[in-house]
Order: sequence, then structure tokens, then C-alpha cells
Amino acid sequence: MTSAKSVYIAYVGGTIGMVKTPSGYQPAAGYLRQQMEAMPELQDERMPRFVIHEYTPLLDSSNMTPADWLEIAQDITDHYDQYDGFVVLHGTDTMAYTASALSFLLQNLGKTVIVTGSQIPLVEMRNDARPNLIDSLLIASSYAIPEVCLYFNTKLFRGNRTVKVNASGFNAFDSPNYPPLGTVGVDISIDPTHVLPHPAEPFRFARLTSQPQVGQIRLFPGISVDVVKNLLQPPIQGVILETFGAGNAPDKDQAFLDAIKAAVDRGVVVVSCTQCLYGTVDLDAYATGSALKACGVINGYDMTAESALTKLYTLFGLGYDGNTVRALMETNLRGELTPPKR
Ligand code: ASP
Repeated sequence: MTSAKSVYIAYVGGTIGMVKTPSGYQPAAGYLRQQMEAMPELQDERMPRFVIHEYTPLLDSSNMTPADWLEIAQDITDHYDQYDGFVVLHGTDTMAYTASALSFLLQNLGKTVIVTGSQIPLVEMRNDARPNLIDSLLIASSYAIPEVCLYFNTKLFRGNRTVKVNASGFNAFDSPNYPPLGTVGVDISIDPTHVLPHPAEPFRFARLTSQPQVGQIRLFPGISVDVVKNLLQPPIQGVILETFGAGNAPDKDQAFLDAIKAAVDRGVVVVSCTQCLYGTVDLDAYATGSALKACGVINGYDMTAESALTKLYTLFGLGYDGNTVRALMETNLRGELTPPKR
């Protein structure tokens, strides 16, 4: 008897299904499906039934854009009622962006969505693709985790908390400011206290009404005010400012502060996220942070820059005005930020 559960696999691209070419690894149509059909483990009676939808063209995730996030969200929505869980096979390079974006686009998610991939293709003798694929299929079909998750190297993370931290190790992802939702060892262990509650409202895909203009500026010592001004030019609507430490910036550089304030006064939403992997922004901790606050910069708390950027994109895309976007950016919507203790 096979498992009665079913999983929809959206195969978007990434190393997991790539082949070696003279110019390096590239995706190849039909190849991953062939490999999977030859895997006896996937025919095991404890595995869920699954279908693979291969995207055209398959992408190295470095080529992905917000249009691809929307296509995946639409695909999951179109098949939401027919399957118990969803696995998105994706490249690792921008996987944290896609997992974050999906978490904001899919509202009142009541089923498990797992984004995964690998550092070595499934076709290679030694690879991390096999366990990542098998574990993701088992978790997506056996547990009710109403979240967009990212599974990699024995850990199940909340997608919008993840960062790619390793370009070559199997431990490619981490979730610095939120514990894993689960771990896989001898047993699969999910911690229900870390998982979001089931939604009270029905699932829906938040369709965007525009293509927002958002950006990201990483501060560095001596950053030129012209670079900052250029990035803040219209039609930009929102910017993630990757600040030093607890949310700090050069408050002795008046031209820099003036450029930020002028943009905020024009209605640009500027969100401070820390360059540090761990910890949170506190714009009151230092004079260099409160100078930004005085310019109207808002607090990204412990959001990753990936999460903050995709959140900003989704909120503007939904058509919210600047003030609502400002308020929602500081609000915990999908477990992506830890609100300050009052
Ligand atoms: N460049 C690849 C991609 O992001 C890397 C990977 O999948 O690991 O598609």
C-alpha cells in the first residue's frame, strides 16, 4: 500500500537537476525527472504520491526575478486544493528571497510548502540532493506545518528567516534569529511551539496590482552620498538600508542624512536592517541610529534583508499607501520579525 498523501513538486531549477557543461553547471530539461524515476526510494510505499511540474525554462536562481516568485505562488494556488503538501525545487543562490517572497504572497497558508535544492546535483555519485529531496517529500506529506519552509541539510527552517551562509558546504542555510522548525536525524522531529498557528481564514494568493520599485543599499565606510542619492531617485518606492550593528549610519555625514531625509519626505519608505547575521536593530541604542530615526527611517528589527525586501515588494505590490507600508513593515506578519519586548 502506498501513502495516501500527495505532494505537488514545482521544479523551478537549481543545481539539484543540473548537468556539467563546458561553461559550468546548467539546468537541463527532463533530466531531473529521469533521475527521480530511477530512484527506488521514491517508489517506497511510505513515500507520498507526487507529480513533478518542470518549469520552462529551468533557471539558475541567479536569473530569477519577482515575476518568478509570482509564477510559483500562482502555481501553488492553482493546485492548492488537490495536494496535501508542496515542494519547490530551486537553486540555492536566491532561495532565501523566494522562500521569503512566497511567505508574504501566500496568505492564510494551511498546508506545508517546502523550498529545497542542493549544493551537488542529484546525478553526481556523492550528493546532498537525495536526502534533501526525500526528507522534504516526507515532511511535506506527513506534517501539517502551515508555513513556507526551507529544508536543507537536516534542518527545516521558517523560509522568511533564512540566509544563504555557505557557498560550498552542505550547511548552505541558517536561520540566525529564529530556531529551526524541525530537525532530521534518526527521527524527524518537528517542534510545534516554533510553528505558526493554523489560519482561521481560507487560503488566498495575494495578487499584486503593480510592479513595485524597491531597492537595497548596503552601507560601507565612506559610501558616497551620490551613490545613495542615485539609488533613492524616483520612481523608487522603498529601500532596505543595510546598516551597521544595531542600525547605525554615519551621523557626522550631514549630506548623507539630508539625502535620506529628502527621500523619506518624498514618500520613500526606508527600512533599517542590520548587516549583522544575529541580533536586532534598535534605532535608540546609539546617536548614529537615532539620527536615522529622526530622518524617518523605520525599524526592520531582526528581519533578514531578503525578507524585508520581499515584504516591501509585496506590500507596495498590493497597493498599500506609504503610511500603511511603514506600519506593516514594523509589524510581524508571518513570523519574519521578533517584535520588541515592551
Ligand atoms: N547557481 C545555483 C542556483 O542558484 C546554485 C545552487 O542551486 O546551489 O541555481
